[in-house]
Amino acid sequence: MSPRGWAVLTLAGLVVTLVVASALLIPWHRPPAPRADQLAALRDLPVDQVARGRAFHAALRPAGYTALVVGLLVALALGLTPLGSRLVELVGRPLGGHWAAQAVLGGLAVMLVADLLTLPFAAWRHTVLTRYGLSTQGWGGWAVDLLKSYAVSAVIGALALLGFYTVVRLAPRWWWAFGAAGAAGLVVLLSFVLPVLVEPVFNRFTPMEQGPLRTELISLAARDGVPVRDVLVADASRRTRAVNAYVSGLGPTRRVVVYDTLLHEATPAEVTSVVAHELGHAKDRDVWVGTLTGALGAAAAVIALYLIGSWTPLLRLAGVDSVAEPRAFPLLIALITVVGLAATPVQALVSRRVEARADAHALALTGDPETFEAMQRRLAGVNLADPDPPRWERLWSASHPSTVERMAAARAYVRGDR
Ligand SMILES: [Zn+2]
Repeated sequence: MSPRGWAVLTLAGLVVTLVVASALLIPWHRPPAPRADQLAALRDLPVDQVARGRAFHAALRPAGYTALVVGLLVALALGLTPLGSRLVELVGRPLGGHWAAQAVLGGLAVMLVADLLTLPFAAWRHTVLTRYGLSTQGWGGWAVDLLKSYAVSAVIGALALLGFYTVVRLAPRWWWAFGAAGAAGLVVLLSFVLPVLVEPVFNRFTPMEQGPLRTELISLAARDGVPVRDVLVADASRRTRAVNAYVSGLGPTRRVVVYDTLLHEATPAEVTSVVAHELGHAKDRDVWVGTLTGALGAAAAVIALYLIGSWTPLLRLAGVDSVAEPRAFPLLIALITVVGLAATPVQALVSRRVEARADAHALALTGDPETFEAMQRRLAGVNLADPDPPRWERLWSASHPSTVERMAAARAYVRGDR
């Protein structure tokens, strides 16, 4: 069989595995609580809080969706016309057009163009966050964060580009197989190693001071069968008023991280409720499942790109001879952008189901639906959530159940419905 035949076969195998894994591992059977309960919860929220959350999101939308459209148009303009391949050539020229220069510098230049053209919308977003008092960062701190995140993506991007195009040169007929394995490996690396390396670039972590809350959180985790080594406080207040917490690390390195903003804003019982939700993610191995499906998806995507990329009309549009040359990188980015957009609602649906399961875990672990509901109200108030966002937006991109869905879930729990 030809390499192409093997690629089709492998892709089919990956897709079947992905479908089976998703069917078995994702809690699909967790639809939101009844709409009547949600509407009752909405009526119980302060009217001005709801209005403020809605106004904030209405103010964010133009920047967010324009950036999305501009990002898509830039990717298509560079990938489906010869513009992108010319840019890669141009950037590689000072180094004699060497393939490695084209691959790394050209690739980074393509990513930088997209970043720079969407930069005004990121700045626009920052002005809205500042106007509503959610961001505590001035333009200096904002710019420093932006440069840090550019630097992190440039390092990862350069390594990935160099690795990918080296493999393409070494194995011109079978690169898709190595590329698929490499992409899957990269997903695993990014989800387990990167948090440990990158978190300290943006935040400082200090152990939570000894006291009843720390003792309670550690014993909660032990009771849940998810022992943690430490409870850390992140200095998130440097840039935001928003509150959050998460569990990171695995096994012996597992730790609970709480934003300092959460400690300032919420009662100890509410902090416990949030941490109980995070322990639910750890207990159900949501990071593992996310990483596994992400790795399978990434491998499938590389093979799909290889197959689609041999379609001559597409190569002609991009002005390249083969999808495997560095000059075709903008074409790959265009295809990845389109696929990424198509996958957005699917990923959001999966995330909402997983988050609903973590909520159910928090309710069962604490047995305290009143505090859970109080915490949801507070989260919505502090984070300026729209408690009941428009249906199209929820379906398109909501990663969590809405505030009213979460409040309604607590009420259903009280009734013993779930
Ligand atoms: Zn969660």
